[in-house]
Amino acid sequence: MTESMNAAVMYGPGDVRFGDVPRPACPEGGFVLKVEAVGLCGSDIRNLTTDSRSGQYPFIYGHEVVGRVVETDTTEELYQVGRLLYVYPEAACLKCEFCRSGHSEQCINVEHYTEHPGGFAQYITYTRSRVERGAVYPIPEGADPVLATLAEPLSSTYACIENVGVGLHDTVAIIGAGPRCSRRACRRANR
Ligand SMILES: [Zn+2]
Ligand SMILES: [Zn+2]
Repeated sequence: MTESMNAAVMYGPGDVRFGDVPRPACPEGGFVLKVEAVGLCGSDIRNLTTDSRSGQYPFIYGHEVVGRVVETDTTEELYQVGRLLYVYPEAACLKCEFCRSGHSEQCINVEHYTEHPGGFAQYITYTRSRVERGAVYPIPEGADPVLATLAEPLSSTYACIENVGVGLHDTVAIIGAGPRCSRRACRRANR
């Protein structure tokens, strides 16, 4: 009998239903996480409210995942059962010209979170390819998994600040208070 798990499954624009789905098996050479916490990104709102998958439903989103390894098919230390991990939403190939020149953000062979079911579920699996590529980070025991889901937004912000060249004791002006949903209903609610 196939085991089941709870998941928030998207069936179309604005149609997300919470229910039972089959629990995924551990991929060859990969690992399974029991999701401890998952961030809700601005892109999730956009993806969940539009036809973001061009009719390819059902699908499980959720890409800011912190979870504990509960099954593994690799001997690599990082992926052993019990490890608490943060998994970055994308994994660059580290082989193409862009990756090798230090611009993995331009990778032509990137593994993107939309290519496999995400973390709005009790369990999420990763393949051998993710084990090889990495972009997975151990979370220290005792750290709050909810806070750890902010690792990716934090890294984006940190990279921006580094690129702009702002440092300690600089005076800066922040224009605008971050992204705002462009949907008419939200604009009204935000007024
Ligand atoms: Zn995100
Ligand atoms: Zn690459």
